[in-house]
Amino acid sequence: EDSEIGSSPSPSAPSIAESKWNDTVSYAKKKNVQAWYQLPDGNWELGKIISASGTESIISLPEGKVLKVQNDCLLPANPDILDGVDDLMQLSYLSEPTVLYNLQYRYDRDMIYTKAGPVLVAINPFKKVQLYGNESIEAYQRKSIQNPHVYAIADTALREMKRDEVNQSIIISGESGAGKTETAKIAMQYLAALGGGSGIEYEILKTNPILEAFGNAKTLRNDNSSRFGKLIEILFSETGKISGAKIQTFLLEKSRVVQCAEGERSYHIFYQLCAGAPAALREKLNLKSVGDYKYLRQSNYTITGVDDAEQFRNVMEALDVVHVTKDDQESAFAMLAAVLWLGNVSFTVIENENHVEPVADEALLTVAKLIGCEVKELQLALSTRKMKVRNDIIVQKLKLSQAIDTRDALAKSIYSCLFDWLVEQINKSLGVGKRRTGKSISILDIYGFESFERNSFEQFCINYANERLQQHFNRHLFKLEQEEYIQDGIDWTKVEFEDNQACLNLFEKKPLGLLSLLDEESTFPNGTDLTFANKLKQHLKSNPCFKGEREKAFAVSHYAGEVSYDTTGFLEKNRDLMHMDSVQLLSSCKSSLPQKFASSMLVQSEKPVVGPLFKSGGADSQKLSVATKFKGQLFQLMKRLESTTPHFIRCIKPNNLQSPGKYEQGLVLQQLRCCGVLEVVRISRSGFPTRMTHQKFARRYGFLLLESVASQDPLSVSVAILHQFNILPDLYQVGYTKLFFRTGQIGVLEDTRNRTL
Ligand code: ADP
Ligand code: MG
Repeated sequence: EDSEIGSSPSPSAPSIAESKWNDTVSYAKKKNVQAWYQLPDGNWELGKIISASGTESIISLPEGKVLKVQNDCLLPANPDILDGVDDLMQLSYLSEPTVLYNLQYRYDRDMIYTKAGPVLVAINPFKKVQLYGNESIEAYQRKSIQNPHVYAIADTALREMKRDEVNQSIIISGESGAGKTETAKIAMQYLAALGGGSGIEYEILKTNPILEAFGNAKTLRNDNSSRFGKLIEILFSETGKISGAKIQTFLLEKSRVVQCAEGERSYHIFYQLCAGAPAALREKLNLKSVGDYKYLRQSNYTITGVDDAEQFRNVMEALDVVHVTKDDQESAFAMLAAVLWLGNVSFTVIENENHVEPVADEALLTVAKLIGCEVKELQLALSTRKMKVRNDIIVQKLKLSQAIDTRDALAKSIYSCLFDWLVEQINKSLGVGKRRTGKSISILDIYGFESFERNSFEQFCINYANERLQQHFNRHLFKLEQEEYIQDGIDWTKVEFEDNQACLNLFEKKPLGLLSLLDEESTFPNGTDLTFANKLKQHLKSNPCFKGEREKAFAVSHYAGEVSYDTTGFLEKNRDLMHMDSVQLLSSCKSSLPQKFASSMLVQSEKPVVGPLFKSGGADSQKLSVATKFKGQLFQLMKRLESTTPHFIRCIKPNNLQSPGKYEQGLVLQQLRCCGVLEVVRISRSGFPTRMTHQKFARRYGFLLLESVASQDPLSVSVAILHQFNILPDLYQVGYTKLFFRTGQIGVLEDTRNRTL
């Protein structure tokens, strides 16, 4: 049964949108200081204040522009010494423009990684950068480089795993195309280099090209977009060597197999197979070229710079490495060919009757041969449906649209079963005889928050997952922050933070939450997307995170912004209907894979079921809805993550063109807001984000003292400086080893220091 994951009361605090860093504008009153000015298009420019009054300033901007502006359009800029600091926490003035500027300053110099406190921000360079490879790995291992890097994160994870004997996790998030999958691979490389030796690390790395071939596709956002979520747990022995791995995948996008948008492709493996299969295999599977398959010729076939035939050879080699036998490989390729040929199966409409018959052509015959069934059986499964009415079984003949749906559903199921089977084979290979002796590091590469023009069931699930992850992120960071204060013995009243529990409740509450209502409507034979939408509006209208919209639409206030969902297709996608006739067909096949697929579809469940799905001549089978299954997976995932020490990486896409050197402020800002980086910064602002050891503080500002101090110990010098500069007691805290400052305080000292030097 479901268990709630660590829900707690949610204290209220300003939302991200509200907290606009209304930093002290009194700074702007000063002449000759630099300030950020927001242009009407939303971008920020750095200017110099020429003169200032109480409410207005005259500012000179780049390209000789001089403007008279309201002071509240200005935000203070950091002193130049803070240009490009490698941790945003070091900025005296934290604001949207200063964060954007700092990230861009680094990005322009190929420093794509920056810390935001405990979080690593990674900006996709869209080009080769000289940051990787053995030399670099060694430097991070020796700690001779301090620059933020994925390697440094992986190194910390490894050290903490050994030191604390606690499982670790590296949680990577970001929009599609932001660089999550590449980042995950970079982290794996580091772990493989440091924990390698047995050879298993090589197998683990080789799972990447396999899963990418079967689970990635070209989309408008990314030529190599992962269409599934992935958690890979890398197991270590007690001596810190890699001993195996375990992969779990989430929510593969099945619809892509039968249909994809203009300018996108289906899964890479189909094109690779058609382009690269050796002659004997081609003949055996009756393979044609891409253009001969309806499922593939819906859109462009090639990706610039990618050789599908070569990729196919890489995949076959990788399959060898992970010990998938040649026989199994061939069976898998036969399933791919069967899917492609299924797409070519056509139907004749029987005249004057409202039903169809599949045409017994090459397509149909090849499918039957590939899956190992009688042609007649296949024809029946694609054109009729057995139904149980009271105690009789009646055979219903299908209309054209029903037959096409049945055919496509079969193709989608074969593909997703094949994907799951493949992951299972890989897991067997990576886990054979590996008893767990030591600890593990899990790497999570999961789709980030999505908000498009039109959002459907997929976005609904993805964004729900992101709410869960965001909660994990928040809770962890607050904990970390508070631990550091406690460790250094400072007086600390708990920072309250915005919790997204209310939104999670909207999804998860029973019986009146989005997921429950969706499942309920999915079980009604007469339920439609419209009746579903109406039910939501009826039951959830008073929920502040919910908004009913026109017709079949509704909106949810997510932590990252409001998203409006169109319920078209929700019920069908949630039911993921697979007719018993098709399942029975697969189980009657002579080939072993279809049989395995059928039995995996038939796994009985005691959980609530959707719809009269598997009602057939025999016993009623039951099946979990997609949303319920996903929720279950997610809860399991969160439980696992909660027992680990997390390390967060937030990937950012600097432009939508996948091209190097282009940094679009607005786009970056929107992602910083969505993925909670700004939130981390906000959290820190309400605490004491600037930290400096007593020694460093005394060394840096001690010469500014006007009167000599009796004792020369760093703490006494520091306290004297604080007094001289009249820094008010609630703006700083003195810890055992460090001084902690509220945001902006060091900026004043730094200015004086610069003027004096
Ligand atoms: P995501 O998984 O977030 O959708 P990917 O990891 O697939 O994004 O990255 C998209 C593309 O961006 C990659 O195919 C690659 O071309 C480029 N890219 C991402 N990270 C890097 C990097 N660190 N160095 C060079 N190119 C990168
Ligand atoms: Mg990816």
